[in-house]
Amino acid sequence: MLFDAHAHLDDEKFGGELDGVVEKLQKAGVVGVVNAACDEDSCHTSLALAEKYPWCYFTVGIHPHCAKDYTPKAEALIRRLAAHPKCVAVGEIGLDYHYDNSPREAQRAVFARQLVLADELGKPVVLHLREAYEDANQILAEHRDKLRNGVLLHCYSGSAELARDVYNGLDAYYSFGGAITFAKHKDKVLAVIPPERLLLETDCPYMTPVPLRGQRNDPSLLPYVCAKMAELIGKTPEEVALLTTQNARRFYRLEDQ
Ligand SMILES: [Zn+2]
Ligand SMILES: [Zn+2]
Repeated sequence: MLFDAHAHLDDEKFGGELDGVVEKLQKAGVVGVVNAACDEDSCHTSLALAEKYPWCYFTVGIHPHCAKDYTPKAEALIRRLAAHPKCVAVGEIGLDYHYDNSPREAQRAVFARQLVLADELGKPVVLHLREAYEDANQILAEHRDKLRNGVLLHCYSGSAELARDVYNGLDAYYSFGGAITFAKHKDKVLAVIPPERLLLETDCPYMTPVPLRGQRNDPSLLPYVCAKMAELIGKTPEEVALLTTQNARRFYRLEDQ
């Protein structure tokens, strides 16, 4: 039993051809996938996937790359789709200073705006933070009272110290994908995160785990991520699969499903 806490099955790399992927992910024991939106288009395509597949859920939100495109129309769309029974969070939102695809000032304003919106909508938030931890932490601290519905640091790339000293204090959840199979120092980060806060993700079609680097990623490759996390935290893959599935269901409020 595995749960993919963050995927992009609507990415053009899948070309709308999910039949083979669906069969593979079911064989791999994947029982749930949350498809994350990044812009207005992917809010619509994520909704369509959730309506088509019983195991698929979705988020609505504007990615920091697209912060420059945040308009009243985009916000109205988020509000409308958030009412859908399979919409589980506002995301992915945050700051990305690695690519700087949107001006940093716009990223900060849109991030803060969506934290307020998520609280208003009663939804947890899925955060994308890259090379922007200082500014992100300031915004999170200023919006501390808006984070009561839960925070997920997707594809967590921050330090062990930040997790221990800042995010654990926010009751954050953390999801890890293919990067833990090849990035260094993930053992130190994992050591400070309570096991009941750990989730697995693919972020597919990107972040393919070792030993399949170079291929397109999809949720059927989660067992590689699960096995690596198990090795790093000293549990069996079966224990990690169960633990992370339960954690994902708790975070996304799918415990009855
Ligand atoms: Zn992301
Ligand atoms: Zn993503």
